[in-house]
Amino acid sequence: MTHKILIVEDNENNRNLFRDILEFHGYAVTVATDGHEGVAKASELMPDLILMDIQMPGMDGMTATQMLKKDPATNGLKIIALTSFAMQADREKFLAAGFDDYLSKPINTRELPQLIQQWLEAKV
Ligand SMILES: [Mg+2]
Repeated sequence: MTHKILIVEDNENNRNLFRDILEFHGYAVTVATDGHEGVAKASELMPDLILMDIQMPGMDGMTATQMLKKDPATNGLKIIALTSFAMQADREKFLAAGFDDYLSKPINTRELPQLIQQWLEAKV
């Protein structure tokens, strides 16, 4: 079974990098460029995992995640925050906002596939 992963990220270079790595590892990847599109595609696709950027124009990743987690139809989706300002204090903020985990950018491209696999296997 091919796992579906949704990448919600406004930065084109990051979006392409994530997509290329994940497609190389056999995942079915869909991308969205802001929170509105992310929520719409998440509801439509019901992906196995969502990588959600925090800072985006329009609807940010925090708001989009709270919307998905409040909706009974989508609150079971696994959502990983992508953040460029990761500090220990922020971790609690992300978990409180409904994220299942977070990943700080710049990402380690060698570690990413292993992390993805762990998140997919985790019973959240
Ligand atoms: Mg961004």
